[in-house]
Amino acid sequence: MSDTNPVTTLSIDALPKIATGKVRELYSVDDKTLLFVASDRISAYDVIMENGIPSKGPLLNLLSAHWFNVLPTLLPSLRTHFLTLLLPSSIPQSQHALLHNRSMQVRRLKIFPLEAIVRGYITGSAWKEYTVSGTVHSIPIAAGLRESQAFPQGAIYTPSTKAEAGENDENISPAKAADIVGQSYADRIEKLALSLYTTARDYAKDRGIIIADTKFEFGLDEETDEVVLVDEVLTPDSSRFWPADKYEVGREQESFDKQYLRDWLVKEGLKGKQGVRMPETIALETAKKYKEAFEKLTGGSWEDAVKK
Ligand code: ATP
Ligand code: MG
Repeated sequence: MSDTNPVTTLSIDALPKIATGKVRELYSVDDKTLLFVASDRISAYDVIMENGIPSKGPLLNLLSAHWFNVLPTLLPSLRTHFLTLLLPSSIPQSQHALLHNRSMQVRRLKIFPLEAIVRGYITGSAWKEYTVSGTVHSIPIAAGLRESQAFPQGAIYTPSTKAEAGENDENISPAKAADIVGQSYADRIEKLALSLYTTARDYAKDRGIIIADTKFEFGLDEETDEVVLVDEVLTPDSSRFWPADKYEVGREQESFDKQYLRDWLVKEGLKGKQGVRMPETIALETAKKYKEAFEKLTGGSWEDAVKK
């Protein structure tokens, strides 16, 4: 892991800024292209922490890039927004050290306002709902499931809205998703999200990681009417990753994601509070988990990945 301080704010003078998300900054390269820059910010329970996680931006960016390279070889009809990890020529040399590895150029697309969530295993809020009502996302589920078990019927699609900044995403039914984006796109998004999940689940399982659930976003290529995979994909920010060798049904799992941070926030009574500074140990442990996930999924060392 690099020793440099986490990058929580950054600005690029050479390009117009389009948007600031919880983690990323989006810049316009030209009409058709964006520079997608991942900071080291981390959010938990929808609140951004005051300090960052060392190298988190590059880890997320290079892991997404790995999936954008691998997934189309496994699903040949897949279209993604990924263009290149190279920086646009307008970026001055003085900013290369900051932006290299944490940026990718992507196609600028109209984003469907849906979070396409797919769950393979019953955990988190889904497990909570099931214990109360026997449903997940209001879908009736077989009785007798134990915590962290794989859904017997296979992965399930549980979409939510993409909330405006400061608001929480809201679970919606597939019918409501169809109201928002139209039936035909809603169907295509659901089908694509499920096949992406199962493809990635099998790929990750072979590398020692269980993808319990994940969130995809999609955009529309208006020229070709293609539904395109956008945003970050299959990272510890957008997914729950469990170590396969420690997996055991009937309990919560250890995970490679923000769980460590979330547990600390709950324990300290800081869940949902603004302005929280993570202690060094929490930041470093979280960085270690993200790095482990990266190395397992890509099969290469982090040190080698950042040298490129
Ligand atoms: P938000 O800021 O939307 O609440 P977030 O905190 O997850 O969500 P980030 O991950 O920091 O946001 O920023 C990524 C933003 O870029 C998301 O709003 C996502 O929808 C948007 N986005 C992803 N891919 C593209 C693309 N190809 N074209 C335009 N916007 C994109
Ligand atoms: Mg995001």
